[in-house]
Amino acid sequence: MTGKNSSKSNTNKNRSPSTPHRASQGNRDFRKRTRRDERPSEAPQVRSMPVVGDAGAQVAIILREGREKSLLRRHPWVFSGAIERIDGAPASGDTLQVMDSTGKFIAWAAYNAASQITARVWSWNPDEAIDAAFFRRKISTAIAARTGLNLAKNSSGMRLIHAESDGLPGLIVDQYGDVLVMQVGSAGAEHWREAIADILQELCRPACIYERSDSDSRTLEGLELRCGVLRGILPEAVEVVEHGLRFGVDVAEGQKTGFYLDQRDNRKLTETLALDRDVLNCFCYTGGFSLYALRGGAKSVLSMDASAEALHIAAENLTRNGLDESRAEWQDADVFLALRKLRDQGRSFDMIILDPPKFAPTAAFAEKAARGYKDINLLGFKLLRPGGLLFTYSCSGGISEELFQKIIAGAALDAGVDAQIVHHLHASADHPVLLSFPEGAYLKGLVLRVAG
Ligand code: SAH
Repeated sequence: MTGKNSSKSNTNKNRSPSTPHRASQGNRDFRKRTRRDERPSEAPQVRSMPVVGDAGAQVAIILREGREKSLLRRHPWVFSGAIERIDGAPASGDTLQVMDSTGKFIAWAAYNAASQITARVWSWNPDEAIDAAFFRRKISTAIAARTGLNLAKNSSGMRLIHAESDGLPGLIVDQYGDVLVMQVGSAGAEHWREAIADILQELCRPACIYERSDSDSRTLEGLELRCGVLRGILPEAVEVVEHGLRFGVDVAEGQKTGFYLDQRDNRKLTETLALDRDVLNCFCYTGGFSLYALRGGAKSVLSMDASAEALHIAAENLTRNGLDESRAEWQDADVFLALRKLRDQGRSFDMIILDPPKFAPTAAFAEKAARGYKDINLLGFKLLRPGGLLFTYSCSGGISEELFQKIIAGAALDAGVDAQIVHHLHASADHPVLLSFPEGAYLKGLVLRVAG
C-alpha cells in the first residue's frame, strides 16, 4: 500500500484470524453505508434446522489420499484442492461429514460451495449433533472462558466469540456494554445465524444484537453484505469503558464492529510509558492510544487518521473523558504522506505509534505489504528522538511475527538507528488463539527503544 492509493476507499483493516481470504474480524473502513434508519428492514430468516450428526447421514466430503493431515492436527479448514469428491448434494451452509480417502470419519463441517475453503469444521466428535444445542454449548463455553479469565474487570467491551479460535468458524461477537455486535463470515455461521442470535439473546440478555456482516470477504464466501438490528433496539449512543476511559462506539457505521478491542492491553501499556513525552499516534481511529497517552501524562499528542468520521468520534472521546484538549491535536491525513511532511519540517517525537490497517490479507500480499510496513517504520524511526519509543503493529494475517520483526530491523537499518525490542505484543486475551489454528494470531506488535 502506498500513500497515493491508500485513500479512504481502501483503508480496510480486517483483523481476521481466519485468513487467507476471509475476514471474519471486520474491517477498518468507513465505506459508504446507508444510514441506520434507511436500512431495508429484513424479514427474519426462517430456516429449518437440519438434525445432522446421525450416523446415517449421506452427505459427505471425501478427501484425496493423504490430504487429511492438517485436519488430523485439528486445523479446521478443508480446502477445495484436498477434496476427492462430494457425496450427496449439499447446499452452502449445510452440515456434512468430512471423511478420509478410506471413508473414515474425521469431522462434521459446514459446507460452502462458493469458497476456496469448502468446509469449516464444527466438531471432531462423530456422535455430536450440530444443532441449536451444539451452538448453545459452544457459545456458553466461550463466554465462561472469558469470565474465568477475569476479563470483564477492566472493560465493558469484550470479544465474546473469536471465530475459529472459539470453535465457531466465521462467527465474531463483540460486546459493548449491553449491546452485542455479531459478524457472520462463513456459510455455516450464516445458516445458523437466527439460532445463534436466539442463544445470545437468552444467555446475555442484551438490549440489542446488531449485525455487521459487511466485510468484503463475505463476497468471496458467496454471501451478501448485511447490516442491521437482529434483536432488540439499538440505543442512541453506545459506549465502552476500558480501564476507566470512556469511548463512544459507532456500532452501525464505525469500522469493524465499531471499536478495536484487540488493542486494549497495548493501549494500557502506552499509558504507562507516555509521561512527559511528545507522542505521535498514526492511524488513530477514534483516539484509543491517544487518550491513554494523554491520561498517562504525555506532553503532547498528535493523532492522524484518514477517516474524518473516526476523528470526529476521537475528539468527542477526549471531551467525554475530560482530558486536556490543549495537549491534543487531530489531523485528517494520509499517514504515508504526513510522515514525510513531518520529516521535511524537521519534527521529532519521543513516542510514535503505528497501528495501520491490514496490508496483507494473505501471504500472497506479503511482499507488497512489507514495502508498506518498511516505509512507515523507516519514517517513524527517523522521527524519533534518541531514547524514543516506537510502538509498531501489524494485523496482517499474511505477515508472520518473524517476518514483521525482519521488516522492522530493515527499516531501522535504513533509517540509521540502533534499536532494541523491549516488548513483544499481541491481541488481548479475549482474542485467544487456538493452538491448532495459528492464523488466529493475526495481531503482532513490537515496542522498540532507539538508542539514546
Ligand atoms: N489504533 C486504533 C485502530 C487503528 S485501525 C485503535 O486503537 O482504535 C486503522 C486506522 O487506519 C483506521 O482508523 C483507518 O481509517 C486508518 N487508515 C487507513 N489507511 C490510512 C492512511 N493511509 N492514512 C491514515 N489513516 C489510515
